[in-house]
Amino acid sequence: MSSDLPSSCDLLVIGSGAGGLASAVTAAVLGLDVVVIEKERHFGGTTAWSGGWMWLPRNPLARAAGIDEDEETIRSYLRHELGEDYDEAFVTMLIEQGPRMVEFFRRESAVDFIDGNLMPDFHGNTPGAGTGGRSLCAKPFDGRELGARLEDLRPPLAEIAPFGMNIASGADLQHFLNATRKLPSFLHVLRRLARHFIDRASHGRGLHLVNGNALVARLLKSADNLGIALLKDTAAVELLRDGERIAGAVVEHEGTRRMIRAARGVVLATGGFPHDLARKSALFPHAPTGREHWSAAPRTNTGDGLKLGEAAGGHVRTDLPNAGAWAPVSLVPKPGGEPGRFPHLVERAKPGALMVRRDGMRFCNEADSYHDVMQALFAATPAGEPAEAWMLCDHRFLRRYGLGRVRPRPFPIRPWLSNGYLKRGATIAELAAACGIDAAGLAHTLDTYNATAAEGRDPEFGRGETPYNRIQGAADNRPNPCVAPLGPGPFYAVRIVPGSLGTFAGLKTDAQARVLDQRDAPIPGLYAVGNDMSSMMAGRYPAGGITLGPAMTFGYVAAHHAGGVPLANNRS
Ligand SMILES: Cc1cc2nc3c(=O)[nH]c(=O)nc-3n(C[C@H](O)[C@H](O)[C@H](O)COP(=O)(O)OP(=O)(O)OC[C@H]3O[C@@H](n4cnc5c(N)ncnc54)[C@H](O)[C@@H]3O)c2cc1C
Repeated sequence: MSSDLPSSCDLLVIGSGAGGLASAVTAAVLGLDVVVIEKERHFGGTTAWSGGWMWLPRNPLARAAGIDEDEETIRSYLRHELGEDYDEAFVTMLIEQGPRMVEFFRRESAVDFIDGNLMPDFHGNTPGAGTGGRSLCAKPFDGRELGARLEDLRPPLAEIAPFGMNIASGADLQHFLNATRKLPSFLHVLRRLARHFIDRASHGRGLHLVNGNALVARLLKSADNLGIALLKDTAAVELLRDGERIAGAVVEHEGTRRMIRAARGVVLATGGFPHDLARKSALFPHAPTGREHWSAAPRTNTGDGLKLGEAAGGHVRTDLPNAGAWAPVSLVPKPGGEPGRFPHLVERAKPGALMVRRDGMRFCNEADSYHDVMQALFAATPAGEPAEAWMLCDHRFLRRYGLGRVRPRPFPIRPWLSNGYLKRGATIAELAAACGIDAAGLAHTLDTYNATAAEGRDPEFGRGETPYNRIQGAADNRPNPCVAPLGPGPFYAVRIVPGSLGTFAGLKTDAQARVLDQRDAPIPGLYAVGNDMSSMMAGRYPAGGITLGPAMTFGYVAAHHAGGVPLANNRS
């Protein structure tokens, strides 16, 4: 193994997503000597593919904008959402330390944020639901500032980034959807594309970084500024002990192994188990062999942190109602390779997209969150049948909003029909035949939906009834941003299979992110953050950003604990 790898440090961080890098940067600011190891050749993990949204109630940007919620409203929302799994210690930590983490990163590092002051929580009918101001996103970042490190940043997820260019939610996305309809949007897109192609010619990739890519870029920039050793292509394979204490890890790099000792401890931050077949089979009821689940997270997230933690005496929660952050996914054919996984996060809520099972029946409010839609699909699927659905729309919708990987006008449809990703029928009966859906059932569904859709009503499932539904819909579609009749044909559909954005079940920790043993006592020197820490939301999904907000916050908390630096707990 190359001898230039450090053999010791204060804190060893395993994994380079939000959880790992937040721990590393915080620890380095606090004066610790930090090493981050990353199994892949790129840093950033799922985080670099994500939307970059972080659920952080009472954050300083919201408060500066005059949104000053009392803690009890937030607690009330979580109490209703999490039920018996509501854990006061974790909730208090997030509410108190989340805003401090934001202030700390803005003050001490290159990490900065933009507000989510219009972003509602998922469940607007739950008491205490927020209508905005509880989330933040990473501020866009100029990739040039990374210098040579740019090469090490995981590129955006190809399936959702046209020409490798991430589109930010909000105004940017609206411009892309309106590019062929409104001149200012057309000009915006033209500018974005021109800049992107110039950047690609000069640097091999886009440099206007947004979303999770900007978050990782900012964390990497901060890590470099602080002199953190960032080791790629280096996997942790075993933890080292010094008596009771976890004191480092055996790592593998270019086929050889060596030890990195860590005086203050080890942070597990390997992004959960979205591609660990055995654990998926054990914890995902819809995936009896583990193969019936297609996560959109990177394939190298194979549950290593959970296994390392278990070998050290920790235990993984197996009692969550949902062990993953479910998302509807369609499989994108790739010549000679495994299909890509397109997570359907945006277009489901636009007016005129429906989801049906193979009996032709709807099973959910399609405009609800990706997690809720999948839970509804699981509930509607008879035992023994695969949990599959079809998402369908008419020609007008397809060209206006796109459907999955099929992008809106002016992108062509034909390649997607040819490779079988997109099904088409001149009539609903033809579409049903092309997809293997029950034709009578589908005709009935369309008749029922269309009967009230022109008035903007969806009495069956209530599309458009929550603020979250409406913000995901199309503001210019009246009276209901989420409801429009389907037809005339031709009609289109893509097949939906169960997928996820990551996993929720992880190592049981306390609210200091310390991994707990079988007796629920902390294992000295061992921390778990991000998706290696069992989600404080315990399998529920109350709002967008509930993985990255806690990942950043508990990374910050773990680093303080490892550094022996008390957390400030006075409330500002
Ligand atoms: C398309 C998409 C959009 C999303 N949008 C959002 C959003 O807006 N907000 C939100 O909260 N969540 C979002 N998510 C989910 C979120 O991205 C993940 O839950 C989160 O990034 C996980 O962070 P992490 O730090 O735990 O792990 P990751 O970011 O996945 O990083 C883990 C890293 O550990 C590395 N690793 C694995 N094993 C080892 C080993 N043995 N040794 C060394 N390194 C190892 C992996 O290669 C990986 O790079 C989204 C997910 C997807 C796919």
